[in-house]
Amino acid sequence: MIETDVLIVGGSLVGLSAATFLAWHGVPTLSVERHHGTAIHPRAGHFHLRTLEVLRSVGLEDRVKAESEKQFDPDGGINAVESLAGKEIATYIANLNAGVAEVSPSTRLFMTQQSLEPLIRDRAQELGAAMRYATELVSFEQDKDGVTGSIRNVVTGETETVRAKYMIAADGNRSPLREQLGIRTRGHGLLAECITIYFHADCGTALRGRNLGVIYVFNPQLRGFFRLVRTGDSGFLAVMTRGDMSRPDALNVAEGIDEERSIAFVRSATGMPDSHVAIEDIAAWRAVAEVAESFTEGRVFLVGDAAHVMPPMGGFGGNTGVQDTHNLAWKLALVLKGVAGRELLATYNIERQPIGELAMQQAYTRYVLRVVPERGKEAMQPLVDDLSLEIGYRYRSPAIIAVSDSATSLYEDPRKSKALPGTRAPHVVLQRAGKPISTLDLFTRNFCVLAAADGGAWCDAARAAAGDLGLALDAYEVGRGDVSDPDGRFAAAYGLSLSGAVVVRPDGFVAWRAVDGAGASKAVMAALLSSLLCRNAA
Ligand SMILES: Cc1cc2nc3c(=O)[nH]c(=O)nc-3n(C[C@H](O)[C@H](O)[C@H](O)COP(=O)(O)OP(=O)(O)OC[C@H]3O[C@@H](n4cnc5c(N)ncnc54)[C@H](O)[C@@H]3O)c2cc1C
Repeated sequence: MIETDVLIVGGSLVGLSAATFLAWHGVPTLSVERHHGTAIHPRAGHFHLRTLEVLRSVGLEDRVKAESEKQFDPDGGINAVESLAGKEIATYIANLNAGVAEVSPSTRLFMTQQSLEPLIRDRAQELGAAMRYATELVSFEQDKDGVTGSIRNVVTGETETVRAKYMIAADGNRSPLREQLGIRTRGHGLLAECITIYFHADCGTALRGRNLGVIYVFNPQLRGFFRLVRTGDSGFLAVMTRGDMSRPDALNVAEGIDEERSIAFVRSATGMPDSHVAIEDIAAWRAVAEVAESFTEGRVFLVGDAAHVMPPMGGFGGNTGVQDTHNLAWKLALVLKGVAGRELLATYNIERQPIGELAMQQAYTRYVLRVVPERGKEAMQPLVDDLSLEIGYRYRSPAIIAVSDSATSLYEDPRKSKALPGTRAPHVVLQRAGKPISTLDLFTRNFCVLAAADGGAWCDAARAAAGDLGLALDAYEVGRGDVSDPDGRFAAAYGLSLSGAVVVRPDGFVAWRAVDGAGASKAVMAALLSSLLCRNAA
């Protein structure tokens, strides 16, 4: 019998992220992955600001950026064309990182999933996560104290039993674990049977020096998108529908696909009918827009595509999954350490399910607008801007002490949210030991109190209360002591007077805000932290 705290089923992008974030918090895990290694296909390629921020928080950002810059231009854009050599139809994003420095210490980037996964895996292993490849979970059951799973080595057939306190289902969009738990999904269902064609062809001339990470193609033969390597001589073309939507097989590109048809698709999409095209591989996949009605059942948590699956427009799928695991990891860590009450784990579903649904709906909206306008706008939600979706989403749960506003929106404009409880704490450039840092660099593992320059009473109260609760907490009076505020922007950016303070959770979300120093005491802080940790819940 193997014993561990958390059994992670699935070792692709999201399972590996779960292993990294849990290991960062010192939680023992065992990951099992049926395949012999990490992803072999590029799939996800567009990584959002928040994903880079959370990778930064575990020391991975520099490695990821360096790898990305080998493949793609750091400030690439997203446009739509009839064909690469032909007419431009639309520019969705001219420069992926325009205006981003104002709101984040990180940048968005393009890189292939197959090059990102090994970096995340290596970090997880450096931090002590245990992993078994070529190993699948074949069955499991849960009881009131834990989960017992049977795992099998797919090469030798040898089986072993794993006993874990919790289990994370990162087993992808068809998620047999979700099925077994009886969790239903809702959404727009199957949209199309698609293919991705991995090819080599000289597209350099047709690219005409354009600096693009994703190029949508919309013409009478096909609708889909390209991702090409920097040199333009290889990449992939995802074909999501045929161009003529009156054909009975318009939404089934996958059926009967072969090399000859794939070459024809690539030639049409490049606009180079006589070009030499070498096909490396063809992968079939389904475009689906669905979200699980619940992300939790007992001691099992759904993350990533097991919890939500969406068309790739906007690149929400993998990013949302990585952020699921970042939300869950610190909660599991504090519950396992006995510092938080078990009810804290219920806030994973309360917080992430609506955000997963929002991402799925916004991906669907982009699918309708960019790929199949014939579906009509009736069932589609209005388009929300990328920045609000990436770093503006807002949680409401017992792990947030809400301000008394009546707003119910799931997102805010991050340039205006000013540390509203439930939103990601804003980025402000500060200085420590003479070096520039971001406020976000102060939220990596522990609860954190950030007070304005005269808010020291909140810091003292928080340190004393946390000590009694056994909670690791950092507290800074920004502008005094070792963290300075050279531009004097902190208090205004956080909506504070000079004696105010915020409590920020280990995931960088604002849990509570006091605009001034009224009522600062150990007793108030103790009650507040106990409530955030769900210590008094039944
Ligand atoms: C063409 C395309 C483009 C995309 N572009 C983007 C993009 O730009 N940005 C973005 O964020 N997302 C994008 N996505 C989506 C992204 O690829 C997925 O959201 C992401 O891979 C989900 O990761 P996951 O780990 O949840 O699931 P998966 O990648 O499906 O991994 C699940 C893993 O679980 C393993 N597994 C399943 N059952 C078991 C078991 N019983 N035991 C052991 N192992 C098991 C499987 O072998 C698999 O490796 C794109 C997808 C496609 C198809």
